Amino acid sequence: MESFQIPILLILLKIPSVFTFPMPPGDLYFAKQYLKNFYNLQDDSSGVLQGSQDAFRAQVKEMQEFFGLQVTGELDSSTLNVMRRPRCGVQDALQYSHGPGNLKWKHKNLTYSIVNYTYRLKQRDVNNAIKNALKVWSDVTPLTFTRIFNGDADILISFQYRAHGDRSPFDGPNGILAHAFAPGKNIGGDIHFDWEESWTMNSEGYNLFLVAAHEIGHALGMGHSQDVGALMYPTYGYIDTKDYVLPLDDVKGIQALYGPSNKPDRRRHPKTPNKCDNSLEFDAACTLRGEKFFFKDRFMWRIHPYQQRAELAIISSQWPFLTSKIDASYENKIKDHNVFFQGTQFWPVKGYDLLSRFPQSIYLFGFPHTVKKIDAAVQISKTGKSFFFVGNQYWSYDEKSNRMDEGYPKLIEDGWPGVKSPIDAALQENDLIYLFHKFMTFHFNYENKEVIRIVYAYSNTCK
Ligand SMILES: [Zn+2]
Ligand SMILES: [Zn+2]
Repeated sequence: MESFQIPILLILLKIPSVFTFPMPPGDLYFAKQYLKNFYNLQDDSSGVLQGSQDAFRAQVKEMQEFFGLQVTGELDSSTLNVMRRPRCGVQDALQYSHGPGNLKWKHKNLTYSIVNYTYRLKQRDVNNAIKNALKVWSDVTPLTFTRIFNGDADILISFQYRAHGDRSPFDGPNGILAHAFAPGKNIGGDIHFDWEESWTMNSEGYNLFLVAAHEIGHALGMGHSQDVGALMYPTYGYIDTKDYVLPLDDVKGIQALYGPSNKPDRRRHPKTPNKCDNSLEFDAACTLRGEKFFFKDRFMWRIHPYQQRAELAIISSQWPFLTSKIDASYENKIKDHNVFFQGTQFWPVKGYDLLSRFPQSIYLFGFPHTVKKIDAAVQISKTGKSFFFVGNQYWSYDEKSNRMDEGYPKLIEDGWPGVKSPIDAALQENDLIYLFHKFMTFHFNYENKEVIRIVYAYSNTCK
């Protein structure tokens, strides 16, 4: 009888694990719609036949690969979270990605026309958002854009409601925000915005300038980029639109199609940090309910305890109020919340929710007014003390009595021998405190007060 047990076990192992635990039917249906819309899942993938389950898993893998997630073929929570983000309606499938060979305009003097408006914004604001979004691209290419009021423009821009005659219906608020067609005649080059979104000129709702700039990229022949820092990344993320400069990845993509501008361009086009760059330095680091986070500019890497891969994301995609770089952050395990510091302000956050409507003042902790920013913060969970590092000094804060301890600040070289200051970032992992100084990570044993090893900062994220 024993010999029968092995094949049974093998059969069990062969069942795709997506279907071995109870998946809410809503999630499965949602994921299938997503993969049909943005990848190549065919309509007959009902999930009943083994072949269609394989097709489903293959598409989940392609999507995970695109977004830099752990490639498992399973609908885990991080995969579903990415699927739920508001995004562009154009496919991600790799044959649409940028580079030469894509469809492009044969002429450089393009025309556009604004067909209708959203009631949520003044017409003047819509006109300006579109004009500025076109300028993002004309600044780095030989292309010019002229608005025309009658006749057939190359790029027709309109707000459309639900099914609107191009077999790509909009889905109401959130979800798909807009879509655009690659260069060509008739509908080619046209841009449609979802009428039902809350379009804005600021950080609330969806910023029309940012979405328009992305869609114009498609109208010029660009596909989606896998670079989270790129304008052509498929999901929406707010960034400050004042003095917006096109990221380097998009500049390379559009110049591969049309060549550079004749005008000199001295602006620095932002580059997305590389998790394996051996000169990598962090702005801040923290733990959050078992995950580790490393922050750099407007980006962060998160490392789930059961997944090896450091996933890169925009900080504001998780915490929308953090639209610029952060100085320090720590997990307060005693109060089960995290604190993010920016200049003289801090934001208390429970999981992903803000605990106060507005940022709080760092002077509530008891810092003197000479302190204008916190370099790093960490809590020793055993003792309930939180440490704040500023320049070559540090403070100790008692989380139980909510007061700064007596006798501080002290010198970092006295309390943390062997560690170089200033400290950029800090976090606790098991019995060690990790302290970051430039490209170095000091592993510090707090009980023995000694550095036990020094490793590269990038070794934390290069996985
Ligand atoms: Zn897009
Ligand atoms: Zn459309």
